[in-house]
Amino acid sequence: MTHVNYIDAERKTPTVKTHAEDFRSLLSRFEEAGRLVRVGVEVDPVFELAAVCRHLQQDPDKREHVVVFENVRGSSFPLVGNLCDSRNKIAFAMGTTPRESIDRVLSATGNPIPVELVEQPVSQEVVITSPDLGLLPIPTMSELDGGPYITAGLHLTRNPITGVRNAGIQRNQVHAPDLLGIYMAPTHMLQHYLAAQEKGVALPVAIALGVHPSLLVASQLRLPYDTDELAVAGALVGEPVRMARCVAIDAEAPADAEIVIEGEVLPDERRLEGPFGEFARLYGPARELPVVRVRAITHRQRPLYHNVMSASSPENVTLGAVGREPSLLKALRSSVPTVESVRITIGGGANFHAVVALRKNFEGEPQKVGFAAFAAQDLIKHIYVVDEDIDIFDDEELHYALATRMDPSQDIHVVENVKGNPLDPMSTEYQPGRAVVNKMIVDATKPMGSEDRYRTAEVPADVLERVAKDWDRYLGGA
Ligand code: MN
Repeated sequence: MTHVNYIDAERKTPTVKTHAEDFRSLLSRFEEAGRLVRVGVEVDPVFELAAVCRHLQQDPDKREHVVVFENVRGSSFPLVGNLCDSRNKIAFAMGTTPRESIDRVLSATGNPIPVELVEQPVSQEVVITSPDLGLLPIPTMSELDGGPYITAGLHLTRNPITGVRNAGIQRNQVHAPDLLGIYMAPTHMLQHYLAAQEKGVALPVAIALGVHPSLLVASQLRLPYDTDELAVAGALVGEPVRMARCVAIDAEAPADAEIVIEGEVLPDERRLEGPFGEFARLYGPARELPVVRVRAITHRQRPLYHNVMSASSPENVTLGAVGREPSLLKALRSSVPTVESVRITIGGGANFHAVVALRKNFEGEPQKVGFAAFAAQDLIKHIYVVDEDIDIFDDEELHYALATRMDPSQDIHVVENVKGNPLDPMSTEYQPGRAVVNKMIVDATKPMGSEDRYRTAEVPADVLERVAKDWDRYLGGA
């Protein structure tokens, strides 16, 4: 096996055994599969690095590769990019296929394995208590971004009232060597922050970088409040996620993380954060948002910094789609049990569009599916419901269903003035708290009782089969 050269270099005796597969052993697996490229020349973290990531994503021979930047200007840490920008790569990391990943994640959700606490984690091989974020190769990606952004940080917090952990990815702008901006999407971490603020105290947060993608996928599930995403991550990797107490704050972080930034979200301080190129490939505006005071940085020897591309790159949204589809499928089935599968599209920013395959037993079920989706995930705006014979991961199949099974005067149902997101350019007001959007359910299922009209035209099945079986006869003898 070819070793990733910096991985075993300089390692002192490891303090505890690392995870069954951690971030760097996953990279070795990509390298063994011939799916890792290295950039050895010095690269500027301001725009140039992002441009190289984009170029690789557009190269048909390299788009399924992970990239390691060995030499990012201003930092001695390598940067790993393009790890989560395709369904194939995320599935490869999870040891599954894109089509099977929804079931894998759903079964993990139903059989969580609680985390375990360990001492002397590798994530603390180096401990820095006078932190300087300038150590890290944090890139600036989109033209108008307000500054460098940490984008792959898994944020671990505890509910200040119940003590239950939450794991989520938030974006962090670098304001100063020991100060980060944070935009908390209106999800569970924001609830933790508001509860701490109510008490007048800071919220401890561990920001882990360089964790296995299974943890990142688990963090994108839409689990109920006060459910530990890392227990689902444990089920995904087949053993408890190992956690370690932080050195400077009252929190825990994954013991195998490459880098952990320990900090506190301050209750009252605000700084101008943004603009930032976001999931809709548009800029979120600059706003006064909370800040994280960094108390310590810990890392492994020769740590690998993980970056997730945002904006026009499919990376941020692909991770979101893979994480959110299983929860959506579960929610839809609780309303309509014959929902077969779901796809949250990358083109829809992994938020706005969902395609649902339904084995329809009753007229009107597609509308039920649409309402269940709107209720389950805030940002879903357009729902396309098709029959179960349509391959929802194939856009041409979707178009076929729309072309042959949908009557615009009967089958498009518009729901007006639903709570939306200011990052949606079609929302009524481009500001938090006032954005509402109009939504749509498209029923592209065949009418009930229309079997005759929808008899598929095809070469007889027995002849197709016979030809396939004797295939050598047709081209072999020439
Ligand atoms: Mn949560």
